[in-house]
Amino acid sequence: MIAEALNRLVRELTKLPSIGEKTALRMAFHIISLPRSEAQSLAQSIIEIKEKVTLCSVCFNITDCNPCSICESDRSNSDTICVVESPAHLAAFERTGQFKGIYHVLQGVISPLRNTSPDDLKIKELVTRLQQGKVKEVILAMNPTREGETTAIYLANIIKPLSLKVTRIAQGIPRGGEIEYLDESTLKSSLEGRREL
Ligand SMILES: [Zn+2]
Repeated sequence: MIAEALNRLVRELTKLPSIGEKTALRMAFHIISLPRSEAQSLAQSIIEIKEKVTLCSVCFNITDCNPCSICESDRSNSDTICVVESPAHLAAFERTGQFKGIYHVLQGVISPLRNTSPDDLKIKELVTRLQQGKVKEVILAMNPTREGETTAIYLANIIKPLSLKVTRIAQGIPRGGEIEYLDESTLKSSLEGRREL
């Protein structure tokens, strides 16, 4: 029965991003070698994150208080909204310390392959926020992938009739690159070199 429990753990671990079977097996053996208290603490933290962390009802970032601390704080450029795909991308821009505006997390990009349509994303919610009239510029900060570009063009077409400035982050980011893995200076220059759509 030990083998079945091990198999189950390996199966669960391989569902995580970038974890193949070999890595999962190594992690599983490591977990087996941990003191019981450490293994329990790991399991508990996974349960807790699902119970305590929710999406901010304003920007859809992950948060344990609602609205999130960014939406609640006085940002110096609160008339500029940076639209990102995921909370991981938001965190990457925050790490640069360069952006003082507000955010909107789409929770994905338009992807026919993954069956994600505009209705599956937080686009209606974005438009509602923009219609409140406080935002003057919308920065479209999706990944420079085909899906990211498709999403940016789709959003630009919706936002332009609202008479707002629409910009796209610069393409200093390598094609197919992932925002969350880029160094801070590349991200910084991509914000500085953003262009109007
Ligand atoms: Zn928020």
